Amino acid sequence: MIFINPTQHDNIDIRDHIAYPGLNYMVDPDLVNDFMKTRRTGGVESIGFLFGKSKHRPDVELVLVNKLINKKLKSWVGISDKVYKKNYKMAEHLFGMHIFPILLHPQSNGTVRLQSKNPKCEPEIRTNYLKHPLDVQRLADAIIFIDENLTRTTEFEKIRPVLYPAPICDNLPYKSREYWEKALTKLVVSFGDYMGGNKMGARSDTSSVVDCGFRIRGLKNVRIVDASVIPVTMSGHVEATVVMLAEKAAKIIKRTYKRSSCYNDKSRERRNQLNYKQLSCYK
Ligand SMILES: Cc1cc2nc3c(=O)[nH]c(=O)nc-3n(C[C@H](O)[C@H](O)[C@H](O)COP(=O)(O)OP(=O)(O)OC[C@H]3O[C@@H](n4cnc5c(N)ncnc54)[C@H](O)[C@@H]3O)c2cc1C
Repeated sequence: MIFINPTQHDNIDIRDHIAYPGLNYMVDPDLVNDFMKTRRTGGVESIGFLFGKSKHRPDVELVLVNKLINKKLKSWVGISDKVYKKNYKMAEHLFGMHIFPILLHPQSNGTVRLQSKNPKCEPEIRTNYLKHPLDVQRLADAIIFIDENLTRTTEFEKIRPVLYPAPICDNLPYKSREYWEKALTKLVVSFGDYMGGNKMGARSDTSSVVDCGFRIRGLKNVRIVDASVIPVTMSGHVEATVVMLAEKAAKIIKRTYKRSSCYNDKSRERRNQLNYKQLSCYK
């Protein structure tokens, strides 16, 4: 949900986790054991993290799926029919694995704007993916690491991964940094982790939308409880955090109403006592 208060914000910042879906590796099926071939754990077999300058906060998450991008994965990551037909369809019958590098802390901000005063008119959403050059550089670094280092380790070499030709970038040397940077401008997908649209923050933070009790500032009893209140990008997927936020909000709401019903109980008790006194007058 995005709450747009036109008097305070004409531009809401949103952030998202994006990934490059072009690292399809063909693998020799005879070299992979049956466990890997038949295993189904929702697709994701293992994850890893790449750290840049900071030792405390990873820049990129790696997600390994035990399949090449197929029809099912296509809709999961939001690849259009046209792009699928051009880049993936001819590999449908092949066996392999896919590694997604996911940018965890993008510098590029998306924006949400009101287009009109008409509440039925949808807001304008601009994702601005990879607008900041650092985002392109970090994802390109991750792709190069996967292709030149990770898939060349002894363990990976055992299954002989071969990159299925990534989207063609004319006139650029295959697998050069420029090639990958260009490929990124052609192919990038969202992991659906939209954060920050209704940022939670201190009263002094004028860009915050909700207070620490999830209440929309300036309104009395309207709360927002979803991924949009997460104020900074996270080094991982969002769902568990959303569940935790919902649990916390439920506790806050229950406590608020318990307190008010407590007052009601007291006043009811007093009223009953008065009634009793009134009744006793009649005795
Ligand atoms: C394909 C995909 C795969 C993902 N996989 C993972 C994963 O493996 N792990 C992970 O941690 N995260 C994953 N995510 C991200 C995660 O699901 C979301 O970040 C999380 O669900 C966000 O929670 P939310 O409550 O903010 O929004 P949502 O879960 O989208 O909830 C919004 C709800 O509002 C309802 N709604 C919308 N409009 C209205 C309206 N006008 N009136 C009433 N109701 C309305 C919708 O029906 C929906 O139920 C994935 C996302 C996608 C898209």
